[in-house]
Amino acid sequence: MGDTLFGKIIRREIPADIVYEDDDVLAFRDINPQAPVHVLFIPKNPVATLNDLAPDDAVLVGKLVLAASAWAKREGFADNGYRCVMNCNRDGGQTVYHIHLHLLAGRALHWPPG
Ligand code: 5GP
Repeated sequence: MGDTLFGKIIRREIPADIVYEDDDVLAFRDINPQAPVHVLFIPKNPVATLNDLAPDDAVLVGKLVLAASAWAKREGFADNGYRCVMNCNRDGGQTVYHIHLHLLAGRALHWPPG
């Protein structure tokens, strides 16, 4: 797949407000936050869309979710709650073709989303 701006963030070619990193996952604040807390959790090994995941990626996707939930607990908003979203393709609102989990928190979020 082609490189995206998230690849450039992983390689530190463009700046980002990085809040968490491990061997497989990088997390940084969204440049256009939709809530007081809006962080993107991405795999360092890029996959374009949810449609491109293979069975072997199960651990990778699990690591994204676990990294987000652990960070929410550490940051102290887990009990109040938060939302995790992964957008897929045009109708899902995906704009960057490197899968990412949005973590939104810090206000009551509406349902259904727009
Ligand atoms: P998507 O629409 O693909 O689900 O989410 C992509 C997200 O990436 C958007 O929320 C957008 O604000 C964020 N984004 C786009 N460009 C940049 C950037 O250069 N830096 C950061 N930190 N976030 C970005």
